[in-house]
Amino acid sequence: MGVYTKKSIGLLKEKVDLVEVVSSYVNLKPAGSIYRGICPFHDEKTPSFIIQKGELHYHCFGCGAHGDAITFLMGYLKIGFLEAVEVLADRFRVSLERVEWSEKEERGPSKGALKEALSKAARFYHYYLLHSDEGHLALTYLYERGLDLEFIRKFQIGWAPQNEALFLRLMQKLQCSAKALEGAGLVRCSGQGERRCLFAKRVVFPILDYGGSVIGFSARKISEKMLGPKYINTPETLLFKKSNILYGLSFSRKHIAKEQKAILVEGQIDALRLIQEGFNLTVAGQGTALTPAHVEGLSNLGVTKVYLAFDGDEAGQGAALRGGSLFQSEGIEVYVVTLPAGKDPDAILREDGPPFFAGLLEKAPDYLTFLISYFSKDNDLSSPSQKNRLIHSIVNQIRSWEHPLMVHESLRRLAKLMEVPEEYVGLEKGGGMGRAMYVKKEGFLSEIDVDPNRVLETDLLRWLFLLGDSEDGLIRLIQDNLQSIHFSTSICRRMFSMYMENFRENKPTDLLSVVNNLESVEEQLLFSQIVQKKVDAKRAREGVVETITNILQRHWMREREKIKIQIQSGRCSEEEVLELAKRFDTIKAAAPEVKINNEC
Ligand code: ZN
Repeated sequence: MGVYTKKSIGLLKEKVDLVEVVSSYVNLKPAGSIYRGICPFHDEKTPSFIIQKGELHYHCFGCGAHGDAITFLMGYLKIGFLEAVEVLADRFRVSLERVEWSEKEERGPSKGALKEALSKAARFYHYYLLHSDEGHLALTYLYERGLDLEFIRKFQIGWAPQNEALFLRLMQKLQCSAKALEGAGLVRCSGQGERRCLFAKRVVFPILDYGGSVIGFSARKISEKMLGPKYINTPETLLFKKSNILYGLSFSRKHIAKEQKAILVEGQIDALRLIQEGFNLTVAGQGTALTPAHVEGLSNLGVTKVYLAFDGDEAGQGAALRGGSLFQSEGIEVYVVTLPAGKDPDAILREDGPPFFAGLLEKAPDYLTFLISYFSKDNDLSSPSQKNRLIHSIVNQIRSWEHPLMVHESLRRLAKLMEVPEEYVGLEKGGGMGRAMYVKKEGFLSEIDVDPNRVLETDLLRWLFLLGDSEDGLIRLIQDNLQSIHFSTSICRRMFSMYMENFRENKPTDLLSVVNNLESVEEQLLFSQIVQKKVDAKRAREGVVETITNILQRHWMREREKIKIQIQSGRCSEEEVLELAKRFDTIKAAAPEVKINNEC
């Protein structure tokens, strides 16, 4: 996680021009002292989205959307806070200085220099595919796979030539330094100082970030006779973090965020072909297994359902088994698409057509049904002992998941599917949460050391930071009910007090200003964690009331607990005990209630 120095955030804040940022996505027309455009956050015909000249905020009179440059990018591109900061820095050419973590960290070329080298390389590869003899052979291969020219142009597919010296010479001519080429993962230096290209004689697919910049490549060989693996990817670089990159996300991000669903496939070509055919919720892993970071990325986009369309062979099914478990563990429902033997999505689109693939999605069994049929291959379910063993291993897997509701619902469903009583899978009669659930939860807490107080308080801060600036009523609701004494985690208390103080003194409370006000690296880290996760603006009020209620309840219980401990300490006189007992009763009788001022 990147955290930037106060100086560079301050510089960025000065340079950002809201009208310029918004104009790249919305057609803004000047009208007197304002700019007006069609709101990108709701459907409308007459423009009600405005920016006052010289102001730092936009406002929509149609849907109430309101915010600054950062919230605009977060909402429009469906990206997190840090990504939005980077998009702004790229655009306004501010180089963000990272807070130094360790002395060992090497100082290499900046992210900007790497992006420039990659973008030049991508343009060269694309040109070479379309305009060279060698490229024509590759084009023929791509046409044979059913990709047309429009498609190749849209996704900037290219060809890395066999002649490495040619590539190196051209990059040098384009003023890409050797350090930048190496840092970008395009070139590798051997022990003898010889420079070799990572990609040669391969079709290359550029991989883009949320802002549309190339951050790496996936390169595929076009003949089985060639040496090396089917795909080679850019190695880990400053820009390219394999464990959290999903191929195609730059094209499907907005659709995925809107539909809250995603289709996952194995191959890059599969992903692009599906997107091309209108399945614009598709992404592919990087030829490696799915990781928790992939799951987190999709979960941050609000995804609640994923379809795994992996190859029908043993390896593909194994990947679906493991990947599916990761998603289920986080409360995301998984459906496993059954592809006909020996066919990948690309082949299905070519031979059977898109409607057939749509049918496969519709018929896809849920994860538990898939699990049972997967394990049934080796177990004879008519034998009670084998059935018992099968249920046992599935129950164990389900109990290892982190999302309590998903665990509970899945155990119930398993009992139903296997036709056994619910108690058999560890659930109490009447559908209550079984003891197994609680044991699991405690185990989980002690293992990863999640502090529930911190979780509760950061939830409140998330509403405050992400929506406090845009929804006036929300911040008043919080102000009317909470004070810093209600916070038990000191870092959360400090951040809360700072924000509320700025609000009371009419100082700016937009995200860049808040991050600029944070004192320590620890605070900045927590801040970026908090705002990285999305909130649902539609249920903001409900969510805030719920969080306030929980915080007040907790405080109320604590106050009572404190008195109890004092009484039981044996150090108080009889009079003091009576006094304390009275106070205990008064507190007990006054259960906290959230004050809601209806005017706001
Ligand atoms: Zn609107």
